Parts: sequence; C-alpha cells; structure tokens
Amino acid sequence: MNFADIIIPVSLPNLFTYFIPEELEESIFIGCRVIVPFGKNKLYTGIVKKIHHLPPKEYQAKGIEHVLDNHPIVLQNQLKLWDWIADYYMANIGDVMQMALPSGFKLVSETKILLSDNIVNFDELNDREFLVVEALQIQPLLSIQEISQILGIKSVQPIIKTLLEKGVIWIEEEVQQKFKAKIEDYISLNYQKFPNPESLQNAFQLIKKSVKQEDALLRLVSLPSFNYNDFKIKKSIFCKDYLIDSSTVNQLIKKEILIFEAVTTDRIKNYQGNIQEIPVLSEIQNTALIQIKLGFEEQKPVLLHGVTGSGKTEIYFHLIQNALQQNKQVLYLLPEIALTSQLINRLQKVFGNEVGVYHSKFNIHERVEIWNDLLLPNGKFKIIIGARSALFLPFQNLGLIIVDEEHENTYKQFDPAPRYHARDTAIYLSFTQKIPIILGSATPSIDSYYNAKMGKYALVELNKRYGGISMPEIFCADLSKEKKQKTMHGLFSDLLYKEIEKALENKEQVILFQNRRGYAPILECDVCGHVEKCIRCDVSLTYHKHSNLLRCHYCGHMEELSVTCKACGSVETGFKGSGTEQIEEEFAKFFPNAKIARLDLDTTKKKYAYQEIISDFEDAKIDVLVGTQMITKGLDFNKVSVVGILNADQMLSFPDFRSFERAFQLMLQVAGRAGRRDKRGKVIIQSFQPHHSVIKNVMEYDYLSLYNSEIINRRNFYYPPFYRLICITFKHLNKNVLDAAAEGVSSGLRASLKDFALVLGPEYPAISRINNLYHKKTYIKISKKASITDIKSHIHQWINKLKSDNSYKQVRFNIDVDPQ
Ligand code: ADP
Ligand code: ZN
Ligand code: ZN
Repeated sequence: MNFADIIIPVSLPNLFTYFIPEELEESIFIGCRVIVPFGKNKLYTGIVKKIHHLPPKEYQAKGIEHVLDNHPIVLQNQLKLWDWIADYYMANIGDVMQMALPSGFKLVSETKILLSDNIVNFDELNDREFLVVEALQIQPLLSIQEISQILGIKSVQPIIKTLLEKGVIWIEEEVQQKFKAKIEDYISLNYQKFPNPESLQNAFQLIKKSVKQEDALLRLVSLPSFNYNDFKIKKSIFCKDYLIDSSTVNQLIKKEILIFEAVTTDRIKNYQGNIQEIPVLSEIQNTALIQIKLGFEEQKPVLLHGVTGSGKTEIYFHLIQNALQQNKQVLYLLPEIALTSQLINRLQKVFGNEVGVYHSKFNIHERVEIWNDLLLPNGKFKIIIGARSALFLPFQNLGLIIVDEEHENTYKQFDPAPRYHARDTAIYLSFTQKIPIILGSATPSIDSYYNAKMGKYALVELNKRYGGISMPEIFCADLSKEKKQKTMHGLFSDLLYKEIEKALENKEQVILFQNRRGYAPILECDVCGHVEKCIRCDVSLTYHKHSNLLRCHYCGHMEELSVTCKACGSVETGFKGSGTEQIEEEFAKFFPNAKIARLDLDTTKKKYAYQEIISDFEDAKIDVLVGTQMITKGLDFNKVSVVGILNADQMLSFPDFRSFERAFQLMLQVAGRAGRRDKRGKVIIQSFQPHHSVIKNVMEYDYLSLYNSEIINRRNFYYPPFYRLICITFKHLNKNVLDAAAEGVSSGLRASLKDFALVLGPEYPAISRINNLYHKKTYIKISKKASITDIKSHIHQWINKLKSDNSYKQVRFNIDVDPQ
C-alpha cells in the first residue's frame, strides 16, 4: 500500500501520514491538494509532501478522501522553501502553508461560503452545485460542514472548488477583507471625435458661447503633458490648479468633448496606453548597471546604495528588461504594497500587461489567478510586484529578484508565525536557485552593508540625484538653546516656525514628523537631553513608574531613578512623549488658517483612510501633514518645501540596539520628502543634542560614518551582524506562572548553551501585558561559530519540556529568529 505525508494548515510540527486508496493512486502527485479527515469529523485541504510505502508507527493511517488537483499547485522548489522557512525560523510547517497559500486554495470544514454577487448562469451548474446555490439562497452563510450535511456526502470540497472557479460563491474571509479599490475621477479629451488639432476646432465651435468652457478646454489642451493619445488628468487637480469650476468640466463632458473616466488606482488593470521606451541611463547610472551585472556574474547578491532620486528604479527597469529578453520572470519586492500605485504605473508604461500585482489584501480570485497563471508553461505575468508573500508564488523560471528599500523592517513578519524576513528569504532563494538578486536602498541596513563590506555582496553606489537636482538642505534646531532663550513657540522651535510661516505664505506644503513609537515614557533631561543607558547593552533604559526603576529591556539590568540628571546634575528631568495629536493641536493654535491633517495609526484605522489622506495631500486640499513613520515611505509629493522632524531625541533613545540605524534611516527618508522637483527643500530637525553623531551624519548625508560607528557598537555588544539573535516570548495570564516558566526555560538554556551563546533575561518588554496576557522575553545571542542547528534543538528541547509539564500547559510562547 502507498502512503502520503500531508501538510495540513494547522499549527502543528508534524506531517500526517494517510494511506492512498487504490482508486486515487494514479491521480496523486506531490504538490497536489487533497482532502483528508483530521481530528473529530473535520476535513482539511492538505498538500502532498511525500509519497512512500511506510505506514506510520504511532497511529493507524486514515485514507485520503479526494484529490483536488490534477497537477501540482505547489512545486518542488516551493516545498523546499517551505521547509527552509519552517526550519530556519523555527515555525511549524502547517503555519508556513497557512501563510504561503492564498486562502482560496485551502478550504477547511469551518470555512464559510456565501453567494457571490456575480450573475449566476444556472445552466452551467450540475445538480449538486445547484443544490448548494439553492441552500445558500435560503441561508446566506453556510460552512462547508453544513453543506456536506445538506448534500449528504462527506467531502464537498471538489464541488466548492468548481463553484469558486465559476465565480458563483465567495468565501466569507474574502468578503471581510474584500479590497475596495479607491476610485479617482479622471478627465481626458474625446480623442475619437477630436483626434488632432484640426478637429479640435470643431470642439471650440461647439462651445463658443461659453467663455468658461472655452477657457477650460484651452487650458487642458495647452498643458505641457497633453497629447492626442493617452493623456488624462485627475479632475480635482485640473479644477484646483487652474481655478476651473467642476460644473464647467461637467458641461464639457455632457457635450462629449471631454471624457470622464473613473480609474481604480489601487487595483491593477489592463494597461491600454502606449508602451514607452525605457529611459536611457546617464553615464553614472550606466556604470552602476555594469557593476551590478558584474556582481551577478560572480553570483553575489548586489547591494545598490543610491540616494533618493538617483535613479535606482530606472536601473531596475533595465535589469528587468534584460531578464525578460532572456525569457525569465522577475520578482519585484516592496515593503508595503499600499504605496505602489505610482510604481505600477511606471512599470506598466514600459512593460504593459506583463506586470502582475500580488498582495494578501487582494481578494482570493486575484491571488489565485496570478498563482494559476504562473503554473502555466507560458503564463501572461512575467513581472510580479508584491509584498513579502509574493516570495511564495510558483515561479518556474525566475531570473531576477529586486528587493527595494531593503532596510525596511516591514519585510519581517512579526505575527503570526512563521516570523520570516522576506529579504533574507529572498537571499536564500537566490542562493539555492542561482537567481540574480539586487537589494536597493538609500539607507542600507547595517547588516547588508556589512555583508557588502565583507565581500559577500557586491556593492554599487550612486551618490547623486538624477538630473542635477540637489538634496534638501538639513538644519538642526537646538532645543535646549531655544528653550533657554525662550524662543520656542510651544513645541516648535523658532527655526521651524519661521520656515512653516514662509512655506504657508508661498502656498507650499509642510510635513511634520513625530515618531511616537515609544509606549512607556522615557526619562530625559530637560536641560541637556541626556537619556540613561544600560551599561551592558547600549540601549536606553525605560522608566517604570510602578517600581520607580530604570530598566533595560534586553538584559534586565536595573537602576534606581536618580533625582538629578547623571550628565549635567540638573533636577529638571522629565518624561518625554509628545505625540502627533499634541502637535496637531498646537499647530492649529498657531496657524488657525492652515489646513492640517494627521496620518498615524489612529487616523487610519478605517480602511481607506490612509489613501484618502494621502490623495487629499497630493491634491493640495491639505497644507500640513503631521504623521508618524507612515509618512516616510516612498510617497512623492511635489509641493512640499519644508519638513520638520519634531523630536529626533525620541528616536535616538528608543530602547533598541538598532535605534541609531533606524533614526538615521527615518530622518533621511522623511527629509527626502522635501523639494523633490523644482525647488531645493528644507529640513529642520529639532533636537536637544544638535551635536549628536547621528544628527550630524544625517545633516551631511554621511552614511559611511554612521555605519562605521554602528558596526563598532554591534561588535562590542554582541549584536548582529556579529551575533545571531533569537528571542523567545512567553505569555500567560498569571504572572507567577509566567515567571516560573520563563525562568525555567531560560536558566535551562543558559546552562546548556553556556559555551556558544549568551542568554539574556527573561525580562518584561516595554509593553508587558497585552490582552490580559503577561509577556516576558528572553534573548539569546549566538556566536557565529556555534552550530545554529544545535542551538535550535536545545531551544526546542527546553520548550517541549516546559509544555510537557501540566502546570505550564497554558503558557504560550513564540520564537522569533533574527528579530528586527
Ligand atoms: P530612486 O528610485 O533612486 O529614488 P528614480 O528611479 O525614481 O530614483 O528616479 C528619480 C526621478 O528621476 C524619476 O522621476 C525618474 O524618472 C528620473 N530619472 C532617473 N533616471 C533617469 C534617466 N536615466 N532618464 C530619465 N529620467 C530619469
Ligand atoms: Zn542591558
Ligand atoms: Zn542633564
């Protein structure tokens, strides 16, 4: 008899072995989906991992019920990647499957089904399918289990599958997160009626009685970017910029002179415009391109370190073109897909409809469509752009991976498991399958730059913006000086205040950046800005009100709170933490006529709030945007002349060994929002420490100095890239149980790993209680010389030991390898 090992999408470490009934022997392949019974009366969709002759020793094998696919939908390469993820990131293979497969592929008994709002052609349905539809008309939401009862057959998944494919039903989950694309109103000339300047005369004839309409049309056709082919413009922008009434435009649309088009901006749609040539590279860019190709030839990952606007994206385009010419596929990874509409437009202009977008926010059909297309021998999508989950698509012929903004920590999945890093996973993929990979950033991560310096990666640098545009000028406002001289305007230094005034007078826009990631307040000296740091970890200490102690969240070191500042002796120490809200409030007091909006987690909770605020800002309906790091990412605003960074010190003292690196990256990224095209922008950093090395590095755009000092700290304090980090988080309702469990595992590990690793903690993190669960963390710093496999198996052993103890059954824990 033959058996198959099946991956089931539940969080368990093992595969499950089932026997293959004779009638299915011919139709079962590795990578196919099968329906298997699991637990009490449950049916799951699993993936065949292995076919063999060995019955399981511990249990009686059940039989596979159905095979859903007649060809593998998960390829061998992908299964290998799943294994690596599970192994490297210490996750269960079921969790990996859960994350890697779009939910349209994995139906379970509890999956809820409902009728789609597509029009159903009943002739296309067979009897059983028809029964399901009928049942759904009576009771709109049914689980697969219920459907199975209605039909009186056990495994209904094949029927569900065909109904899904026919678009008759939806899965509830899909409906919950159905991605409503944002719609924007565009106008264009009616080219069919008026294809050239001569015919345009007829249009003017039609409106010669209305000066307003004549004026509007004239404006439109004399815009620099106007052409008789694919020109269109956002209606709101056209009206605002040229002071044209919306009703005038509507009249022109009524008369069929202009055409109105509602464009969905977030959803990729077929591109119908002309395909354009990709821009010719400048000499410096071309040199960089040659260096990149040399790196590829040496089979090294290439790190492209290029300032914002240096043309990294244009260089990617050339690399993409090369890959396509060799008939290869391209994977273009971005940290966040919400911000990609500009990039998609750029890509489509050059590569047309070979571009596919893959994102977990897209609905199941779109994701499954891309997945299935890639399984075809010659599918239509050649370039896939996506956030981290795009790594798990069934590429058969991948010839280039681009990881843009490689330093972004959103590449790391925090929750749930697998807690994988998409950049690092991409590197692994590139290494095992010999795929050229390029990592791009204006502010590379210390880790990647180190790899480049050590010769593991090829390093290519671009220090100038394209077209001779200069980088914004960066100033630092000395807060302690301004406070002493009483020149502050609330939270705004005089320097920043005056620049804001000027910008508003000139009808330019302002961005104010306030990073309020710190939860527990930090103790900071009001006079000199000094922040207490841990003696062992080089991270700032966090004040704990409860115990009245300063504590290190990495190693547990504690200090008494002293009445006076340790650096300057002043008694004026205080808690810092003025968030975005306070800034918005103060700003409104000082500039009552300016229109201000806030972009942070609180204002973007509603689904499309983010896009709305951004496009209002783009359309200049807002003068000033206050925000957290959300405003730093890849947005290209044209009229921003001033950027204020309100509290640099807060970033610099965030309790994390990467806080300097992050602060540098964040500040330069926010700075990059200033004056991108026509005018040199100004950036004002407010700080108590104007001479802080990181601020100086930012002001001088000096990445190398930052890197050099960071790398010394990392070496001295046993941090990556010199040591690996693994973090174990323990969670429990009861503090005492948690303490005992965390202590048990940590001291066990400390004893068994003493020669290879430093075990720090357990300690309460900054937020020690979430949803009533207490948290504790243990960090393990592992020497690069140690066998990581050994260390991981020790960790598994100690955790399994804990789990086998009844008093700790309820303790939850998770493991984060390479925490960010
Ligand atoms: P980065 O990705 O490094 O921020 P981009 O590739 O977006 O830079 O380039 C910045 C701007 O300069 C874009 O508007 C881009 O179209 C333009 N640009 C860059 N290189 C060229 C080139 N060789 N020819 C024409 N335009 C270019
Ligand atoms: Zn410490
Ligand atoms: Zn002080």
